[in-house]
Amino acid sequence: MRPLLDVRKLNAYYGEARALRDVDLEIADGEIASVVGPNGAGKSTLVNAIAGLLRDRRGEIVFDGVDLMRPRSYEVCEHGIAIVPEGRRVFAGMTVRDNLELGAYRRGARAERGERLARVHGLFPILRQRAEQRAGTLSGGEQQMLALGRALMAGPRLLLLDEPSLGLAPVVVDTLFDALQAIHASGVSVLLVEQNVTRALAISQRGHLLSDGTIVRSGSASSMLNDPDVQRICLGV
Ligand code: ATP
Repeated sequence: MRPLLDVRKLNAYYGEARALRDVDLEIADGEIASVVGPNGAGKSTLVNAIAGLLRDRRGEIVFDGVDLMRPRSYEVCEHGIAIVPEGRRVFAGMTVRDNLELGAYRRGARAERGERLARVHGLFPILRQRAEQRAGTLSGGEQQMLALGRALMAGPRLLLLDEPSLGLAPVVVDTLFDALQAIHASGVSVLLVEQNVTRALAISQRGHLLSDGTIVRSGSASSMLNDPDVQRICLGV
C-alpha cells in the first residue's frame, strides 16, 4: 500500500552545509512513527523540510499522492500536515483562545472550528479555563498543550511534532503523550521527533534512527528500543 508520506533521497542545506543526506522515510496512514537521534542529528531540519519551512532541499516529498517540494508552508498545511514546532512558538501576547483560532484559518476549517475547539478542550481542559489569558503567562507544559491544540485546529491528517517533551516535567509529558495517543486513535497519523527515545518509541509503531543527517536504522518501535546502535547513539549505553 502506498504510504501516506513518502520521503525519498531528501537532502537539506544551510548554505554550504548539508544537514540531511539522502533521507528515505515512509509514514503509513494511521501510524505513529518516531525519529530519534542525538543533538544536532538533523531531526528539526527533517520536520522543517517536510513542512516546507526549510526551502533549501532536494529530493522527493510526496504526501497522499501530492508533491510537496513546490508548495509553500501554508499550502502544505492546506494539504493536511500541521507542525508543532520546537520551542512551542505560541503567540505570547495573544490569548489562548486567539492562538487556537489562528490554527483554524485554513480554508474549509472555519465551519469545523467549534467542533475542533471542543475536541481540543476535551483533550486539554486547562486551555478552556485559561481561554482569556495571554499565552505568555502559561507554564511551559500548558504552552506545549496550546501548540498542539493550535495544530489540531487545522484538522490535519498528519501531525509533525518537534521535541514536544523538551524541558517538561515527567507528569506533563505523560499528559501530552496520552493526548497524542488519543489523537492517533481518532485517525491522525503522527511523526514524532524526540530525544526522549524511550518515551517516543513506547507510543510508536515504527522508529527511525537519525544520525549525522542520515537514517541509519529503521524498524518496529520495540526492535528499535532494543537496538544496540539506538542504545549507544541515543542513550549512551
Ligand atoms: P537538536 O535536538 O539539538 O535540536 P536536531 O537533531 O534537531 O538537534 P538540527 O537542529 O536539525 O538537529 O541540526 C542539524 C545540523 O544542522 C546541526 O549540525 C546544526 O548545527 C545545523 N543547523 C541547524 N540549524 C541551522 C541553521 N539555521 N544554520 C546553520 N546550521 C544549522
